[in-house]
Amino acid sequence: MFLKEKHNFWDTVTFRLTLWYAVLFGILSIAGFSLVYVKFSSSLRNQVDSELKNSIVEFKNIYAQEGLNGLQEEFNRESEANGKSRVFFRLRSSKGNSLAASDLSEWLPIKGFSAFPHSLNESQESFVTIHVPKKHYNIRIANKFIQDGNWLQVGQVMSLNEKFLAEYRKVFTTILPILILCGIGVGILMARRAMSGVQKVAKIAVQVGTGNLDLRVSVKNEGQEIKELAYSFNNMLEKIQLLVREMKDVTNNIAHDLRSPLTRIRGLAESTRLADENIDAYREMAGVVVEESDKLVEMINTMLEIAQTESGVLELSKSPVDLYEIIGNAQDLFLPIAEEKSISLVFKKLSGQVMIMGDKTRLQRVIANMIDNAIKYSPPKSNVLISIEKDDSHIKIIIADNGIGIEEKEIDAIFKRFYREDSSRTTPGNGLGLSLALAIVRAHGGNIQVKSHPGQGTTFSIIFPQESFV
Ligand code: ADP
Repeated sequence: MFLKEKHNFWDTVTFRLTLWYAVLFGILSIAGFSLVYVKFSSSLRNQVDSELKNSIVEFKNIYAQEGLNGLQEEFNRESEANGKSRVFFRLRSSKGNSLAASDLSEWLPIKGFSAFPHSLNESQESFVTIHVPKKHYNIRIANKFIQDGNWLQVGQVMSLNEKFLAEYRKVFTTILPILILCGIGVGILMARRAMSGVQKVAKIAVQVGTGNLDLRVSVKNEGQEIKELAYSFNNMLEKIQLLVREMKDVTNNIAHDLRSPLTRIRGLAESTRLADENIDAYREMAGVVVEESDKLVEMINTMLEIAQTESGVLELSKSPVDLYEIIGNAQDLFLPIAEEKSISLVFKKLSGQVMIMGDKTRLQRVIANMIDNAIKYSPPKSNVLISIEKDDSHIKIIIADNGIGIEEKEIDAIFKRFYREDSSRTTPGNGLGLSLALAIVRAHGGNIQVKSHPGQGTTFSIIFPQESFV
């Protein structure tokens, strides 16, 4: 386990974040140091250039006032004072000959020292840098025409500047690995911190995987993204838990609802066989077996249809449906049953036709189920009223009764598979009708609303949105 984790470290986001951080840190450090280096070296060079320029101005004045001899003397003095190997001065003719110069013995062997500077022009100084390989430093030379085609040449070694820059480079190359190490350290810390929330979620996910669905991720300061992840994860767990609970309920209900008729069938067959009855008793038994089996098959088919409709597997065969026609047909179908209970079953029509795009057979089942319920759960001599409302955005089919009603807290539950209110248990039914009705209406983009007052009655509204208008 430990070894496996060690190997996988290279694959982790923590490692990648650290690497990115260290690389970025390194690049930024190099860029920062390089920038400062370039600034330093250019300001040092500018300083040298301005010193050289000042010398030229000074020598130019001396030449103008004291002539060639005066200049030669000044060259000697300056060279003595600053060191003949550190500075040099000379006045050259237009042909390049030396008219006056400091001691050049250490300068003349430098390759390119006496070459004519191509950038030299009448108006301003031209600067040249020559690298001296043996001594590992550069020399900087300024040239300027002064008068009669003669030009002044002054130069100095830049060894001090280069020493400083070399020191700077050395410090930088020593510090860089330390900086990168710091970058890695900070990177690991930050990556660990960033990933701690994800790891928390992953840990809970592993524990949930072992079957403990009650666990939830708790996050405090891990940042918005992690909070969102934890929230979605907890939400998902909530839904899974609910689903598992529902599945358990459904399985229990299926087991219960299948066992009762099967036990009845078996009991009847057994008692008929033991009593050694005549053929009529066997016929009667066969009749009951067929009836009970039909109920079972119908129940299983309805369950399948609900599952297929909810999951979208079952395709609706849509066509323009005349709501008056299907409600009228359902009314005709249920009138005898309503009359048996002295219930008035009235359908209040609007003027004009009301059409929607839908699956006629399935919508017929929805309406039949609602009317059936309204009659089933109403006492004799009550009323069931079917009506239609239509506005620009909705079509509503309203089925209102003044029957036993539904407790407020049970209203959501009645749409669950196999759910039956305690007060309804004496009435025939399997608790699947409303689940199927809601699945079908939702597959049409609509919904079912319920308003109910126990003991006063219930109103179901089947609502179809504008999209289903014909
Ligand atoms: P079933 O009618 O077969 O029991 P349904 O899914 O159609 O199954 O209805 C679920 C439950 O909702 C019913 O058992 C009943 O308790 C309640 N119910 C449905 N319609 C009405 C109604 N019109 N009045 C009162 N209760 C109702």
